[in-house]
Amino acid sequence: MLKYFTAVKLLVIIVTKVKVGINGYGTIGKRVAYAVSKQDDMELIGVTKTKPDFEAYRAKELGIPVYAASSEFLPRFEKAGFEVAGTLEDLLEKVDVIVDATPGGMGEKNKALYEKAGVKAIFQGGEKAEIAEASFVAQANYEQALGKNYVRVVSCNTTGLTRTLNAIKDYIDYVYAVMIRRAADPNDIKRGPVNAIKPSVEVPSHHGPDVQTVIPINIETMAFVVPTTLMHVHSVMVELKKPLTREDVIDIFENTTRVLLFEKEKGFDSTAQLIEFARDLHREWNNLYEIGVWKESINVKGKRLFYIQAVHQESDVVPENVDAIRAMFELADKWESIKKTNKSLGILK
Ligand code: NAD
Repeated sequence: MLKYFTAVKLLVIIVTKVKVGINGYGTIGKRVAYAVSKQDDMELIGVTKTKPDFEAYRAKELGIPVYAASSEFLPRFEKAGFEVAGTLEDLLEKVDVIVDATPGGMGEKNKALYEKAGVKAIFQGGEKAEIAEASFVAQANYEQALGKNYVRVVSCNTTGLTRTLNAIKDYIDYVYAVMIRRAADPNDIKRGPVNAIKPSVEVPSHHGPDVQTVIPINIETMAFVVPTTLMHVHSVMVELKKPLTREDVIDIFENTTRVLLFEKEKGFDSTAQLIEFARDLHREWNNLYEIGVWKESINVKGKRLFYIQAVHQESDVVPENVDAIRAMFELADKWESIKKTNKSLGILK
């Protein structure tokens, strides 16, 4: 009987639109809300806020129903005269899936609420892999999320590493990568200003094992935090198990979705120019959804491949959230979904 109702619900969703809620309207949440609103097979039902700040007012201006993240936050809204559409519990009653974009670790506590409400949930990279049935990067393992109730979109760094490494995975013997991480997001004043290079003394870092939750490759990583807010940079070294030339790698990356080659020759000297490129595209919040690989950095010496890439931490995971929704509701196959998402967000290839 339960199966029958699930099948009927799925059919209703397929002929209508998947109703999506966002819990946590911050850096990732607001971008995912925007991306969902651009899809013709999804409907943004509402977002949660803990307080009536400028982001809450902006959401309202955009016509997005704002819910209090919990009833304990209601007095804050009442005091400011900000009318909310209800609380998270009310939002959960109206949606098919909730995208949890609350600060790392909070999703684990929220999961019980989602289970109780019987809604599917997507978690972000700040949560442990065990929270979900699958860790997800669309181009690498879309199929693993098909029909699932709980999916984790991996972190910005893991998404970045996975996109390029997945493209060359048949050639990989072992990967060694160093993550040079931005200290904070541009709007984040909790962790700055920073005037130091902070090594992660967790060696090897957790990024390698996190990539392994998506693709089964040998990988070890190390990480440093540096005083910048724009992007992360990865220095990647790959021991190859079969021959690959520089031209082969360029060709593979040129034909890999959500990966772009940038040339120093054309003025892409640093992460600053990559972000300027996104600004020139008039991308919302200067999102650079694609992973940027410096073309000149791609080099093969014997059995070793080297390359350097940049990751826009605020946005590379956004298309993955959209594709994860399609996979969980089996709305489209992998390439149909990726193409649809890319087109709707102006992703270049
Ligand atoms: P953020 O701090 O920018 O946003 C989190 C939002 O959740 C804020 O609006 C905050 O007010 C709200 N919030 C706080 N407590 C809440 C509660 N109890 N209920 C509902 N909402 C609450 O964080 P973020 O950077 O968007 O990160 C969200 C998740 O995405 C984390 O798991 C993080 O690891 C992951 N992630 C972040 C980045 C990044 O670089 N910012 C990149 C990829 C993945």
